[in-house]
Amino acid sequence: MSEPEAIPPSQPEATVCSLCQNPMAAEAGTSINGHRVCDSCAAQVQAELEAEQQTGARFPIALAGGAAGALVGAIIWAVIVVATNYEIGYVAVLVGYLAGHGVKLGAGKGRGQSLQIAAAGMAVFGLVIAKYFILAHFVVSDPSTAELGLGYFSPGLFIVFLQNIGSSLSPFDLLWIAFALMTAWRIPAPSKIQVGQ
Ligand SMILES: [Zn+2]
Repeated sequence: MSEPEAIPPSQPEATVCSLCQNPMAAEAGTSINGHRVCDSCAAQVQAELEAEQQTGARFPIALAGGAAGALVGAIIWAVIVVATNYEIGYVAVLVGYLAGHGVKLGAGKGRGQSLQIAAAGMAVFGLVIAKYFILAHFVVSDPSTAELGLGYFSPGLFIVFLQNIGSSLSPFDLLWIAFALMTAWRIPAPSKIQVGQ
């Protein structure tokens, strides 16, 4: 592809590898994100990038990690709302953050889009769980519903929740939910490393 271009006749300049700082010839090595690195560093980066893409076997562990993180976030959020009687929207971001880090921890070295989807999905799961338990708490502890004998896991409560989830979300809630998903999405994002000539 490259056109023959006149290389200025200069003596081979010595330079150093951007990663290990070992001296190398200027035209040797590989370019990684525009930095010259020696062949052994380039091979190491390449191996790490390949390891990053091998998420298959770790995927279930990543999902479990994300679920655990999302649940911890959901519990923190629900406890704050129940204790203060006040719904603080930005705690939703914590749910996304913990879901994302749970996925990342479970994935080991893995990164990539499937893990990003898993992180965002687990964030949604955590947010729904938190919303449900907040609603359930207020319904169950409301003296006017005592005669209905509702518990946290009453089927009737699930139906009430599903019927009201849409209308109970304010534009602010949606904003925080969007932030939560973006937070979760970014954490296992693939590294932006380009290995070229
Ligand atoms: Zn090097």
